[in-house]
Amino acid sequence: MNQETAQNKYLYVGRKLPYHQIMNPQEIPSTSKIIQAVQKNKVTYQCFRCGNREQNYFCSHFCARCSSMCTYCRKCIVMGKMTTCTKLIVNELDMKKEDQRGGLEWDGKLSPQQKEASLKVMEAVKGNTDLLLWAVCGAGKTEMLFEAIDVALQEGKFVCIATPRVDVVIELAKRFQTAFPKTPIAILYGGSEDKWEGQRITISTVHQLMNFRRIFHLLIIDEVDAFPYNIEEHLHWVVDEARTKTGSTIQLTATPSTKQQHLAHRDKIEYAMVPARYHRQPLPVPDFQWIGNWRKTIQKNNKLPAPLMKWLQSILKANSSIFLFIPTIDISSAVEEAVKKLTVKTTSVHSQDPLRHEKVSAFRNGDVSVLITTTILERGVTIKNSQIAVLGSDEEIFTESALVQISGRAGRHIDYPSGEIMFFHNGISEEMVRAKKQILQMNQLGFEKGWLDKK
Ligand SMILES: [Zn+2]
Ligand SMILES: [Zn+2]
Repeated sequence: MNQETAQNKYLYVGRKLPYHQIMNPQEIPSTSKIIQAVQKNKVTYQCFRCGNREQNYFCSHFCARCSSMCTYCRKCIVMGKMTTCTKLIVNELDMKKEDQRGGLEWDGKLSPQQKEASLKVMEAVKGNTDLLLWAVCGAGKTEMLFEAIDVALQEGKFVCIATPRVDVVIELAKRFQTAFPKTPIAILYGGSEDKWEGQRITISTVHQLMNFRRIFHLLIIDEVDAFPYNIEEHLHWVVDEARTKTGSTIQLTATPSTKQQHLAHRDKIEYAMVPARYHRQPLPVPDFQWIGNWRKTIQKNNKLPAPLMKWLQSILKANSSIFLFIPTIDISSAVEEAVKKLTVKTTSVHSQDPLRHEKVSAFRNGDVSVLITTTILERGVTIKNSQIAVLGSDEEIFTESALVQISGRAGRHIDYPSGEIMFFHNGISEEMVRAKKQILQMNQLGFEKGWLDKK
């Protein structure tokens, strides 16, 4: 094979066509732009698929394809190798496309605090500005977006709701399909069946946005503080690239980073704050309970600490369901075994569990009373009447933001607005204190705004 044909065989597609399709030059649509996948700017490299700029993720080697030294990106190598000799095809959007836009068919009513936030989001959409929407868990964030998305659709814009977490994509998809029944919606995550074919609404993981360039006029990122978006800077580049140059990016979170909190408090960024839940009841506040070296108790005697057992019993007696958060997977089966002595309706989930969706469904419809889980379920899952326990809440994985999110699982439903949250610990951590403080502050603000009912 001569050099030219070898290179031509490695053209990757940015959008419209399957991403990793190898194409012949004559098949490339005329509206496309061809760019070099890994580019060198003076002395530093950048990958134009995943946005990586961390130099230690670039490697150079002699490349058989182009018969010279090539540099490739290790950050996104699992998706196929991107080198300095790989060409990436980026499609421009054809806006003349006539299609079905549909519209909002939601008949719910926004609470005054939701309405205020909704107007802010609408303002941002109309003025093509960015916004941070800081709303407590259970404030009804999704509903605050509906009107603004409807406005965007009527203006012929393309809308994307992206989130770092697959679970959240699936939850959001259901709600948007109900609210916008006549609008074509693409649901994209690793392994999903949908393809992007110009649907007006896209619900996607942040990673999937690598397939898009300058497409979405309104880009909403839900759970901006969640992993890996909070850690992986290159994903911020990916998000910026997916949005049109003029457009609006809305960031949603219940637990902004310390940096974002500072920027907001100093009015350095546009933000809207919703400290109150839609049902006008304050957020349940966690209690702390010391249980000593509980790992030893479990390993030695196959038993849970007595205060935790007592608490579980009392909640089960009241017919509530229980989220029991644990810090590590390794103790999962031991905890499950111990809880099963109280009720057989017990199960556990973790991120590698192939049955996790089924187990969450069983929990939701009452077939499971106690769900033992790692932090994977810290957000996104809403169960009507559930109480929360965190075992080992002082361990490293339970950060301020994780603990606020976990606490946010309680008392979300209007019929069960209060809830119990117990942090079982072996020494109170800084993060536990900060989480409790944040919840109390939000309640305080909610009362001041008149958005919460006095007891
Ligand atoms: Zn090469
Ligand atoms: Zn890369």
